Amino acid sequence: LTDVTEKRREDRRLRALVERERALSAQYQELSRQKDDFVASISHELRTPLASIVGYAETLDETELDPLQRRFVDTIVRNAGRLQERVEELLSAAKRAADSVDDPHPLSVGRIIGEVADDLRAVAASRGVGIVVEPSASVLPEVIGTEDSVTRVLTNIMSNAVKFSPNESAVVVSALVDDETVELFVRDAGPGIPLADQGRVFDRFYRTEDATANATPGTGLGLSIVRTLLDGIGGSVLVQSDGRSGSTFVIRFQRAHDLDPAD
Ligand code: ADP
Repeated sequence: LTDVTEKRREDRRLRALVERERALSAQYQELSRQKDDFVASISHELRTPLASIVGYAETLDETELDPLQRRFVDTIVRNAGRLQERVEELLSAAKRAADSVDDPHPLSVGRIIGEVADDLRAVAASRGVGIVVEPSASVLPEVIGTEDSVTRVLTNIMSNAVKFSPNESAVVVSALVDDETVELFVRDAGPGIPLADQGRVFDRFYRTEDATANATPGTGLGLSIVRTLLDGIGGSVLVQSDGRSGSTFVIRFQRAHDLDPAD
């Protein structure tokens, strides 16, 4: 009985943490948006006068000048050029950051699979686990999503696959494309997920007995976040497993429609 009470208490604590994390994350996104707006408008204010300085200095450089004047003008041109580069860097950094709180739009899921695989490879290799992206999953049409949501979905599912993989095995990513959807299959050779658990692993805090018994680290939150993120971009996720020999997570994205109807 005390065990159950303790578990409930733990559950409440975790729920409170999740709520707080969500509130903080909303606050953070708003601040981050304000910061990006600020950076973008400052950069814009700098661009116009800078272009004027560079333009006139370059024109001056093409006129008759004595050696000292030429040295001065060259210095102006060189330094204004440097300043221009900095401003461009600032602008593109602000744009990248703003992208992460973007509305869903067409993006390359194939590229993101490659990036996530590269990020996980070092950890996986330390246990002899390989990450294989099959040709079907490396060249893919665009899907609807945001950089942030698609990256987090793939990172969660693929790092679970690595985490539950036995030493010296492989995680294999493949894909199936049709008119409306792009389906990714992330397959591992781990313990699998019993049929009875397959619906529930996407619930918050749910972990299979196997994961708890083997003391595999985790919170049971990852897959619930995955489901929420996919809901936000019109995608879905399910798992296939016979409960013994590995799991295959199927992630379904909406395919972005080409503007060209002939396509
Ligand atoms: P966590 O991995 O932090 O426990 P998740 O929400 O990501 O939380 O996963 C919930 C549970 O689903 C895991 O505890 C585990 O029982 C099961 N699970 C997820 N991915 C796999 C997998 N690839 N193979 C076997 N079980 C898995």
